Amino acid sequence: MNKKIKLDLFKLKSKQDLEGVYRFFKESTAKWFDSNQKPKSEYFHIRECPLCNADTSKEVFEIDGFSYHKCLSCQSLYTKPHIRDGVLNTLYSDGMYQVYQDNLVKNGKEIRKGVLEERKYSQIDSLLDKSSPTLLDVGCGGGTFLDVCKQHGWYVEGVDPSPTASLTALENYQINVHHGDFNKIKFNKTFDVITLWGVLEHMSDPISAIKKAKELLNENGMIVFEVPSADCFISEYLKKYNFSPTRYIESGRHNIFFSRVIIGGIAEKFGLKIELIESNGLDIQTVLLEEFDTKITEKILKIQDTLNDLLLGDHYRVFLKK
Ligand SMILES: [Zn+2]
Repeated sequence: MNKKIKLDLFKLKSKQDLEGVYRFFKESTAKWFDSNQKPKSEYFHIRECPLCNADTSKEVFEIDGFSYHKCLSCQSLYTKPHIRDGVLNTLYSDGMYQVYQDNLVKNGKEIRKGVLEERKYSQIDSLLDKSSPTLLDVGCGGGTFLDVCKQHGWYVEGVDPSPTASLTALENYQINVHHGDFNKIKFNKTFDVITLWGVLEHMSDPISAIKKAKELLNENGMIVFEVPSADCFISEYLKKYNFSPTRYIESGRHNIFFSRVIIGGIAEKFGLKIELIESNGLDIQTVLLEEFDTKITEKILKIQDTLNDLLLGDHYRVFLKK
């Protein structure tokens, strides 16, 4: 199996840039709350669990005015009240958001493409029985992951709600990216692999996106997704100490956290087999959010590696096979 990477958060994103995005979001979302810091009903509504539709839940922590509930049925976490459809799109299409976002990912660009995207590619390649498969990346952004797969001889297409993302992918890598909402786009072909990296947690109806992916999937094909975990170390830490991390929670953006239970439920519901599940966390560095000398960083990375072995890292990576 593919070797794990000991990921250093600060080589990917600097503390300063993380805090910049956090402040930007805090300011941009201030109008969603009233003078008592309570969510306004024009921006929020009460809804059932977005993953299993159960309506019983319990508040586990409150951060930046957002109340996070644990679904008593599937153990996932979600914000309640939940942001209404369309509210986030307005925020994402704010030009300033793109500026902060570009800044945030700028430093780690080479590691991201040369190491992380390569690892994603080789993980899928080792689990797939087909050479030169076709791939659709949902929420592909500027297309760096797609380009890595293309370089390895795969046929690739992307989907992204951002018009600039589709242009960037076409200009830089000559890759076809459908612009719009994945659930609404009509595709004229099916694929061997459909990937959703850090996408489902931003959607108001993640299950319908998985349903659509399954419909577009060839026999023996694979759906791969990465989502924030509800079972991780950092979520337990939050329940205890109610602190506000600039990563993981990303108030207003990460509104759904997947439990191991719901991942099993999704596989069962769609008749897919869990081929592999791993956690890729940055829990400890997120809690500490400080720069350390190399010796301590080394230890932190070892603790994180141990958490990941226990599947307690803050993101799950899931490979489901048809
Ligand atoms: Zn649920």
